[in-house]
Amino acid sequence: EAEVILRRQALRESAARTYARSLPIVPVRARGLTIEGADGRRYLDCLSGAGTLALGHNHPVVLEAIRGVLDSGAPLHVLDLATPVKDAFTTELFANLPPALASDARIQFCGPAGTDAVEAALKLVRTATGRSGLLAFTGAYHGMTAGALEASGGAEAVRVTRLPFPQDHRPPFGVPGAEGEQLAARWTENLLDDPKGGVPAPAGMIVEPVQGEGGVHPAPDGWLRRMREITAERGIPLIADEVQTGVGRTGAFWGVDHAGVVPDVMVLSKAIGGSLPLAVIVYRSELDVWAPGAHAGTFRGNQLAMAAGTATLAYVRQNRLAERAAVLGERMLTGLRGFAADQPCVGDVRGRGLMIGLEVVDPDTGAAAPELAAAVRRECLERGLIVELGGRHSSVVRLLPPLTLTDEQAGAVLDRLTDAVPAARR
Ligand code: PMP
Repeated sequence: EAEVILRRQALRESAARTYARSLPIVPVRARGLTIEGADGRRYLDCLSGAGTLALGHNHPVVLEAIRGVLDSGAPLHVLDLATPVKDAFTTELFANLPPALASDARIQFCGPAGTDAVEAALKLVRTATGRSGLLAFTGAYHGMTAGALEASGGAEAVRVTRLPFPQDHRPPFGVPGAEGEQLAARWTENLLDDPKGGVPAPAGMIVEPVQGEGGVHPAPDGWLRRMREITAERGIPLIADEVQTGVGRTGAFWGVDHAGVVPDVMVLSKAIGGSLPLAVIVYRSELDVWAPGAHAGTFRGNQLAMAAGTATLAYVRQNRLAERAAVLGERMLTGLRGFAADQPCVGDVRGRGLMIGLEVVDPDTGAAAPELAAAVRRECLERGLIVELGGRHSSVVRLLPPLTLTDEQAGAVLDRLTDAVPAARR
């Protein structure tokens, strides 16, 4: 059955299909970290819907919340009308926002995807400032629609698109170490202050607290604080894209919390919908400049996603899963670094919380090794472990396990990965 389904989909689906190509499995059941295929094989899923499943697959509190809405007779679609479900979601979300933002925040339901919320954020700061330029960073990923692509740098889809994306809007992302932080910050300042070649007055700056698709690069705290200063001094709204880093993933509730930075706009999706599509932007009330109807969309009121999201946010908060992610992430990073010490094909191990990357390199030259990385992913799958690749050369093996990962499961993930790496070289 699985073979037939895979063959049929391969014929019918666009050649652009991505995960379906690299992960030839047919999931039929899932719970927590585990996916079961139609062939009965079980896999540890460290892709988690590209970082969406904070509580893993089909967590009981999420299922209960969804069933609660279904059984209550509440409408499933009422555009963006106020409902008790929406009220509960907004209340829970606001309770978890950085306090300095929550005290004066507005929310705009966008959706359904992360890229929709990115578009909304870019449009909002352009409306608010009356300017159009944009500062985004090398290696950034913000989504696949035109504006989000324009702000991204380095993803394959950006290279193949014919959209204009001016390089002068893309200074380097923060580099770890005092010198790296300073150099990267100065580059951005120079861009802003150069009256000729630069971007003297952009409408906004958009930044990921940890670049995910770009290959797991945590923003150094000092650099991110400097970006906040640079933008505040010049009246440039700072947009934090927390689509992937939000809801405990990096070991703090929000990625910006590590640096104590309060952005003007936060872009949220993935985990906030508890595995269903939901995307919002939250911003300082001063930026609430849109007239009624200036931003619309039919699917901004997904009641099931809001209920699943409320349950997820509350569970992460009540069970301190961000702290858990910090402890477990540190332990996994330490384990992987120990392993990498005598693996010449592992160039670097990076991460924050449960957002972990292992850079695969050519043992002789140290250059990025995409083919070897793909082989590592295949060997992982052979061993029942699902991982993702990222980075500018698709040479970074990425782990995004659920925050509910147990110590035992973390051990199993590391065992399989550290087994797969040497096997990929044979
Ligand atoms: N921003 C970031 C930081 C992301 O990681 C992603 C998705 N990987 C997006 C935006 C786009 O989200 P979506 O795929 O839901 O459009």
